[in-house]
Amino acid sequence: MREYTRMQTLAANVPYAAMTLLGAGTIALGFGLSPWALAGAGAYFAYGIAGAFWIMIFVCPYCAYHGTRGCPCGYGTVSARLARKGAHNCFAEKFKRHIPAIVPLWLIPVACGGAALWGSFSWGLAAAVLAFSVNSYVVLPLVSRTHSCSDCPQKDDCPWMGRKAQTA
Ligand code: SF4
Repeated sequence: MREYTRMQTLAANVPYAAMTLLGAGTIALGFGLSPWALAGAGAYFAYGIAGAFWIMIFVCPYCAYHGTRGCPCGYGTVSARLARKGAHNCFAEKFKRHIPAIVPLWLIPVACGGAALWGSFSWGLAAAVLAFSVNSYVVLPLVSRTHSCSDCPQKDDCPWMGRKAQTA
């Protein structure tokens, strides 16, 4: 099993962290930096953190890397402190069941930013939506696929990699 250094683990978390920050920024700009906009941005950022813990609690216990340094993003070691190891053959089922809980993270900023641009165009907001989209839809999947998923022993059972393999 390949083990990741702290720097590699940190690097693996950058695109997700960037997504939550860019998403919060897009929401704040989209609603004109009003108190409600800042509250919405804060709620989105909190959702991003909660989403990471959701995966650690409900998906990672069924992963072969649970409790090991083989998890590229470090969730596996945090997960071991939060939840007991589950049956590995349930991984694909748990993945499919719980990934929808975090999918709105990819959609909310684009929906809010797009609606705001439709009502009143601004270059600053357009740049924020573009930066969010490039990071979330291009960089994040690319980093996942090349940095970590390609080494995963359960990639054949993973719905994410399975879908990628079918579309490749
Ligand atoms: S490789 Fe993925 S599913 Fe496995 S422990 Fe790490 S984050 Fe969780």
